[in-house]
Amino acid sequence: MGERSTLKNIILKNRSFFISSHISPDGDSIGSQLALALCLEKLKKNFYIYNQDPVPWRFENFPDIKWVKNSAPSGDFDVIFFLDTANIRRLGTIIKDIELKDKFIVNIDHHISNELFGTVNIIKPDYSSTSEILYELLKPICEIDKDIAQLLYLGICTDTGSFKYPNTRANTFDVSSKLVKIGVDPSAIASRIWFEDRPNRVRLLGDVLRTLEIHNGYTIMYVTRKMLHQNDSNEAETEEFCDYGLTIKGVKVSVLLKERDKGIIKVSLRSKKGTDVNQLAVYFGGGGHKNAAGFEVEGKIEDVISKIQHKIGEII
Ligand code: 5GP
Ligand code: MN
Repeated sequence: MGERSTLKNIILKNRSFFISSHISPDGDSIGSQLALALCLEKLKKNFYIYNQDPVPWRFENFPDIKWVKNSAPSGDFDVIFFLDTANIRRLGTIIKDIELKDKFIVNIDHHISNELFGTVNIIKPDYSSTSEILYELLKPICEIDKDIAQLLYLGICTDTGSFKYPNTRANTFDVSSKLVKIGVDPSAIASRIWFEDRPNRVRLLGDVLRTLEIHNGYTIMYVTRKMLHQNDSNEAETEEFCDYGLTIKGVKVSVLLKERDKGIIKVSLRSKKGTDVNQLAVYFGGGGHKNAAGFEVEGKIEDVISKIQHKIGEII
């Protein structure tokens, strides 16, 4: 297959690799970045993994997580990998720290909105996750051992919401099944991700759920800086809170607003099969996938809510 041999040649012919992913990295970012890095390590290549934001606490116990840095590298790289990243803006501040001009960029992603900014672009919007794509790409290049398999499984498991979201396809199970045969223990991974919560995070969820408003076909919730502060928490811990709106019968779209510093509101959107929230996110300058998307705007929570309410009828 063309893409596999292209990637194999790129890896074999070069020595040093920079690997980055989007702001607020998720399980798919971290899983795919580290899986690629462990493969490069087996081939005795040099790599540097650098994201703008830290590894979410949920993933801190995964193999070799220490390789994921938040500080700029020194030196130059032969090849730059961007994983799970729809466009250059989603990389945040890291692009200030690294020279991209005339660089060989490999862009591997599953976002339908990917802007094809690489020298080589391997974009598969029908794949659940970048990790699912990467399994097929890495297999002919290095041995997928148990550590690599766990990391790829982490990416698949988190991006599919534990195989619940509509991006879960037969190939997702085929790849996952192979990872399990290599030695991944699905319930042990699930325990690490989902059953080691901090009590304050669960209390924060309670505060956020109390803001839930149910409208015609959609729900809206929000989290303020004050709620985060009172629970000694941070925005990274609100990941997947948005899903709770969708658990209600008849609700097609769930909206979660997150108050950030300097008057910025981050909005997460989730939808059930058949309703496209990517369209709504793109309208507000963001993007994502059909059933999980997001954007950032300036404004007050109540004003952003009314702007969304004005537009949301078009997709429901
Ligand atoms: P989340 O709500 O978990 O932050 O993001 C859900 C999905 O939407 C992810 O696939 C993410 O990449 C995408 N997304 C979230 N925020 C933005 C944004 O501001 N811009 C773009 N282009 N995509 C976003
Ligand atoms: Mn992803």
